[in-house]
Amino acid sequence: MTATAEAVRSALDAVRARIDAAARRAGRDPATVALLAVSKTHGPEAVRAAYARGQRDFGENYVQELVPKAAALADLTGLRWHFIGHLQTNKCRDVAGLVATVQSVDSERLVRELGRRAAAAGRTVGILIQVNVAREAQKSGCEVEALPAILAAARETPGVALRGLMTVPPAADDAGESRRWFDALRALRDEHGGAALLPELSMGMTHDMDEAIAAGATVVRVGTAIFGAR
Ligand SMILES: *Cc1c(COP(=O)(O)O)cnc(C)c1O
Repeated sequence: MTATAEAVRSALDAVRARIDAAARRAGRDPATVALLAVSKTHGPEAVRAAYARGQRDFGENYVQELVPKAAALADLTGLRWHFIGHLQTNKCRDVAGLVATVQSVDSERLVRELGRRAAAAGRTVGILIQVNVAREAQKSGCEVEALPAILAAARETPGVALRGLMTVPPAADDAGESRRWFDALRALRDEHGGAALLPELSMGMTHDMDEAIAAGATVVRVGTAIFGAR
């Protein structure tokens, strides 16, 4: 159930404090870790409450949910939407005019279609390549072996700007188990040009954001801890 506006505000403060503490423990400047508030399944009022507390970046997983929500919140200047769910090529047009980044790009085909649609809309969309680092069956994200070709396509395609890598590790009871997959994503970044070419590492959710920050996350995607259970 979606939390009340007051609960969203205090939960957001608590998440920011948690990010700050995790960054300091890791010897990092907290300002180098951005919070992406994942608002999927929660209504426009929940987003308004977080926005009123200063939150500007919001993540959504479903095009059919994002489009009406973005329309309902069009008055919130400076709000940035980020797409983090599985994206079909036939939906690229709907998001290309709307989002700051698509963090779930996992094929050359998606890179090209997104670039084509963004260019047609006169925009540039930031993209992160989602990698299936744990090689899970039937999971979103490209294979590790496919990454070089997708990165090359991203660098040569007009309309998209390559920003970094993203991953969702296997579900685990113990957040500590996520750490090796976060380290694996960071190693892939180092292997493919480092922070200069791939500045963003989007990893860590409600249950494992501390581990992700320790491993070098520059973006944590947090839903439940801000907006309540889905
Ligand atoms: C839903 C979702 C999140 C947020 O998960 P919480 O556990 O609610 O913080 C983050 N990333 C992706 C890709 C998601 O689908």
